[in-house]
Amino acid sequence: MKKKFLGLAIVLCLVMMNTINSWAFTFYPDTSYMYWPTTSQRVTDTFGTPRSEGRTHTGIDIGGVTAGVAGDPIYSALGGTVKDVANKTYGVVVYVNSRGYNPWLNKYEYVQTRYVHVEEDPIAEPGESVNRGEKIATMGGTGGYPIHLHFETRIGTTLNMGTSDSATIPRDPLVSYTDAQPYKLPVNFTKQSLVDSLDDVGEYGIVSNNMLYSVDFIMSHPISEVYNYGITDSELKELLSTLKANNSNLYEQLNDYLN
Ligand SMILES: [Zn+2]
Repeated sequence: MKKKFLGLAIVLCLVMMNTINSWAFTFYPDTSYMYWPTTSQRVTDTFGTPRSEGRTHTGIDIGGVTAGVAGDPIYSALGGTVKDVANKTYGVVVYVNSRGYNPWLNKYEYVQTRYVHVEEDPIAEPGESVNRGEKIATMGGTGGYPIHLHFETRIGTTLNMGTSDSATIPRDPLVSYTDAQPYKLPVNFTKQSLVDSLDDVGEYGIVSNNMLYSVDFIMSHPISEVYNYGITDSELKELLSTLKANNSNLYEQLNDYLN
């Protein structure tokens, strides 16, 4: 009888822990890092590049593992709720709304991530909860575009933020959706090819322990914290010399930061 009660108590505890855990994951996902949204490390265009009629690019573009071949998995960069899946003139879009506590910024924030031009009938469905790193769609070229993922991070003011452009403000996903966050990378990433791909489009960072830290992320944290993430002096020096070699205006800033 006693044994039975203990068994029941353990089961109850496990159920409660699981409930708390899924509650935390669904409504308060950890936004201190994002998952890289696909298996390709070919960044082909960055945030802010000029577009027609005075507009600018509101996200980043990532080409397929093999250029022109559709079907690469698209992962949700953050845990959250699928706000909508829409078939727009510019392609099929999956919208994921997230609210999370960012311990590095010590605040709650609302973020909408958008995955654009994905193949029709994506896995994710409106109203569904998704975890960070969960497959939600496959890469396509819907809307008549070359095959690539257009990935956006946008700041909102409520968890239920809408999908109109005016409901949220786009931020550079490579720098931050707020001020700075790193990316956890799929396991098969090779360090150099991502760094090289970023160099090609004028973005800089360190790939360390399967995470991507942008130069902006590094400079927005005290150096002691940066070391806590496992980033080494030699990696920082390598980044500094890359910035110098590319005549980046971030060279002076990082140099000052390190001295
Ligand atoms: Zn784009």
